[in-house]
Amino acid sequence: MNICKKCKNEIQSDYCPYCGHPQEIKRINSRYITSEIGSVLNFQKGIFHTIKELLIRPGQNIRQFISEDRSRLVKPIMFILICSLTYTIFEQIFEFKNVYLDFQVESNDSDSVMRLIFQWISQNYGYSNILMSVFVAIWIKIFYRKYDYNFYEVLIFLLFVSGMQMLMATFLGILESLTKIPILSFGFYIVLAYAFWATAQFFDKRKILNYLKAPISYFLGSITFFLIALVIGLLIDLIK
Ligand SMILES: [Zn+2]
Repeated sequence: MNICKKCKNEIQSDYCPYCGHPQEIKRINSRYITSEIGSVLNFQKGIFHTIKELLIRPGQNIRQFISEDRSRLVKPIMFILICSLTYTIFEQIFEFKNVYLDFQVESNDSDSVMRLIFQWISQNYGYSNILMSVFVAIWIKIFYRKYDYNFYEVLIFLLFVSGMQMLMATFLGILESLTKIPILSFGFYIVLAYAFWATAQFFDKRKILNYLKAPISYFLGSITFFLIALVIGLLIDLIK
């Protein structure tokens, strides 16, 4: 009799029958490294596969990820990190400017906290997008309340969508910087439309009302996000 290292039950086999934990863990070697890199880049279920699937059928794929099969797509937190990183790297190489969340707060006070907050939002498109998703998730929960998804499931859905939006912005930004045509600001509508389409698809693509609720949820979500940023900034400025 052995004791499982993870759940402490008594076991006789190589794998624990209670929690599935293997009794012998293989040493980390070159094969481990290549298999880990391979699993991220895997064309069957890695990052490229995930991007392709989210481009063609975003709503259905994320729904299946949440309720049926977690191995279909790259893990959402990992995905959003890769997408933000990609955006940041290419934004610096190709020097395109974030036109989606671009704010200039006029203020005579040079160390106004409100000005700093909005400057941060403008300069950190990736993080701002993730933060904004939290507020959009709240409004989606309200507007699509008869669907059985909890807040965290909606948030996971939005992380996948935001990641794709960042990749689209990266692609449009590179095109803009190469052609000198302002593709990025025009592409804003495509990037937004993608999110609305994905949301309607995620809940029920046959319901026309779902296509109307999506833009309203995103609009109210971003308004809530900016209002909270504004109020926090104003309050801190007042206290100072
Ligand atoms: Zn166990």
